[in-house]
Amino acid sequence: MQHKVTRRAVVKGGLLLSAIVPALGWIANAGAAAADLPPLDTKAPAAVTLGFVDDVSAVDAAANPTYAPGQKCANCEQFQGKPKDARGGCVLFPGKSVPAAGWCKVWRQKP
Ligand code: SF4
Repeated sequence: MQHKVTRRAVVKGGLLLSAIVPALGWIANAGAAAADLPPLDTKAPAAVTLGFVDDVSAVDAAANPTYAPGQKCANCEQFQGKPKDARGGCVLFPGKSVPAAGWCKVWRQKP
């Protein structure tokens, strides 16, 4: 059985490859970039609104009824760092990093 490689197939393959290669580079750099992000300021308006704290031990449980022991940025669905990273990006605070031991009101269990 003989396969013919058409010019159309070559062009389509080239276009697909040119789309995939930059995406792979972006994904590979995403982890490293998150570690280099500036820390989220706990006094930033969005941080204040969401009750963000740098250290989960500072959470006022009475004022945050959704808080439960064990919750922290490291095990939150929005945390973009790896499990053992001290800091990582957060989907809710683009361009900033949050500590693994932080917390905010929209914490949600990482699947
Ligand atoms: S959304 Fe999750 S990772 Fe982001 S600050 Fe809140 S608890 Fe931390």
